[in-house]
Amino acid sequence: MRAVFNFEHRCSLKCPWCYISFGGAAPEPSVCVKVTEELLNYGVDYITFGGGDPSSYSFVEQLASIAKSGGAFVHLDTNAVGFHRKERSLSWISKFVDLVGLPIDGANSTVHASVRGDRRNFEAVTNFAALLSSNDVPLKFNTFLNPANISSMQGILQCISVFGPRIWSIYEYWEPSSRPDIGNEWSCNIADLSAVEDEISSFTASFNIEFVRKHTRRLNYPIVSHDGRIYTHSTASLFSYEYIGSIFSKGTLAKAFVLCADQSEKAEIRHKSRFS
Ligand code: SF4
Repeated sequence: MRAVFNFEHRCSLKCPWCYISFGGAAPEPSVCVKVTEELLNYGVDYITFGGGDPSSYSFVEQLASIAKSGGAFVHLDTNAVGFHRKERSLSWISKFVDLVGLPIDGANSTVHASVRGDRRNFEAVTNFAALLSSNDVPLKFNTFLNPANISSMQGILQCISVFGPRIWSIYEYWEPSSRPDIGNEWSCNIADLSAVEDEISSFTASFNIEFVRKHTRRLNYPIVSHDGRIYTHSTASLFSYEYIGSIFSKGTLAKAFVLCADQSEKAEIRHKSRFS
């Protein structure tokens, strides 16, 4: 069973298309520990720490340690901003993290910056990837496909190949209804999506490459925010979330997993095939 633990107070980047509604109180380390323990007690055995951004919180080391000693597969999704100058993070990541996910949205800093809104992030990501790769930490690269980078797939492939990742995931944009301000600006049209899908399927690489269409991302897993709010993708709409309740209320996590049951099983099969 997989769950995503998202930090949702704020992020060190301001990606203009971000699908998280930031706000509320800053994460409390003790609450985050309890949220992690609730997930483990329920039997969650795959936790993705993500959102904005795990590298902003020194206590994420403690959360990863608890998750790992609780028997979970620990996946850390980060924009690398708070990690890339801190070689110290390498020691606990090597010990407690099974997979590090990093964004790569262009083959150079110009294209990447046009998607991530930050000129320095390409260097942060590639420096951190080099550090992790040279220390045998398994890597996953994530590309958010959009009109700015759709012609860059070959270049991105070459760029990430040097780091020997386990997998490269290319995501079709999922336009959240909570962000009507961005409309379709970041979506690709159907013909372009098909063309890029064909292009990607022709790539030869020593790692898995997956193209994730938006409808397959729906109801794959519950998401829990740093303060314990649980939500899932909506059962009624492809483009919105559905709040389920607090992880500290009896039965809420079970309800969330029931809602995700069908899709999470398919997602788990896909996930296992990627790592086999
Ligand atoms: S790094 Fe991720 S969480 Fe942060 S703003 Fe960008 S998309 Fe949102």
